Amino acid sequence: MWRSLLPLGLNPDTGGYRRFAWNAADLACREWFRSEAAARGLDVETDRNGNLWAWWGPRGPGAIVTGSHLDSVPDGGAFDGPLGVVSSFAAIDVLRARGFTPGKPFAVACFSDEEGARFGIACAGSRLLTGALDPDRARGLRDLDGVTMAEAMARADQDPETLGRDDERLAGIAAYVELHVEQGRALAFTESPVAVASAIWPHSRWRFDFTGEANHAGTTLLEDRRDPMLTYATTVLAARKKAKLGGAVATFGRLVVEPNGTNAIPSRVRAWLDVRAPGDEILAAVTEQIVQAARERAGRDGTAVTADRESHTPIVEFDHGLRNLLAGRLRQNFGAVPVLPTGAGHDAGILAAAVPTAMLYVRNPSGVSHAPGEHAEVRDCLAGVTALADVLQELAQ
Ligand SMILES: [Zn+2]
Repeated sequence: MWRSLLPLGLNPDTGGYRRFAWNAADLACREWFRSEAAARGLDVETDRNGNLWAWWGPRGPGAIVTGSHLDSVPDGGAFDGPLGVVSSFAAIDVLRARGFTPGKPFAVACFSDEEGARFGIACAGSRLLTGALDPDRARGLRDLDGVTMAEAMARADQDPETLGRDDERLAGIAAYVELHVEQGRALAFTESPVAVASAIWPHSRWRFDFTGEANHAGTTLLEDRRDPMLTYATTVLAARKKAKLGGAVATFGRLVVEPNGTNAIPSRVRAWLDVRAPGDEILAAVTEQIVQAARERAGRDGTAVTADRESHTPIVEFDHGLRNLLAGRLRQNFGAVPVLPTGAGHDAGILAAAVPTAMLYVRNPSGVSHAPGEHAEVRDCLAGVTALADVLQELAQ
């Protein structure tokens, strides 16, 4: 499975993946999902929001669901998302080899547009499913080429008119367990190849528009400039400092410069800020400080800045009963496994608002994620499959 998935959407120049919602690579990944499901005799359906479901046996209420996503960030790694989907199919193989047949409806889910790389909203598929993303807003979101999500879906034969909260489907899920590569290296310092998730840090994405005046890079005196790049650069430094002081993390990772000429002072710099913190109050306070620093600097530079929050995900505490059940079952094969919080968002975090959810992490020796260096050792991945099979057997018996 891993070998057949690896070439899809690979950018040979960077070694990273460009599997963005509804692009050719994403459609190839969806096809891969269908063929792996078919190879196991699983029945695949696409839900109203573009998420894929592969059913082992009859559909129905009280379903045990596992899965993850196959899309990537720009030049992302091979493991974030795909490890969970591959492990889900592999766990079914393990359970069948054990002679196990689920006593409850059982599905592998592949959530659409988890990274939000194309339209800017993370976990769009699960947010639409749970009603956390307004369907009209989703349909109107545009990628950098001006293509709306509705247009991108229609081109992929996915009806954009059916988007929206799906109460019937949610009511049919008894538990969702997502296996994911660790996005840090807490496990690298332990004997354990796997961990159980405790919570997901709250997370906000903001768009900053710094506007100034385009002018000649050679003839415009420094004191005559209204340079939004200067305001932006100072804001990057402020974000780092405020995050460090507040115990948060803050990142400007995406930038659009106009006119983007080597010999021109920019007229506008548009930048996206990602802020995460252990709690909602810290997140709000740190973000406010960064916005304030940008405004103060704009005043001194003769530029203007607006800051708009594009998305917000509150803190997620995973279901305690399910978490304890996982940790208890894993003790049989793995001993006491670590229970870890994370700064990374996941579909399991979105679904947690509607159904009991839990997560398993697989050790990542370098901690690198969202980059080509993302990695997990084969033996740890196989331990992850065993762990997932163990907990699914416990839940679906
Ligand atoms: Zn992921």
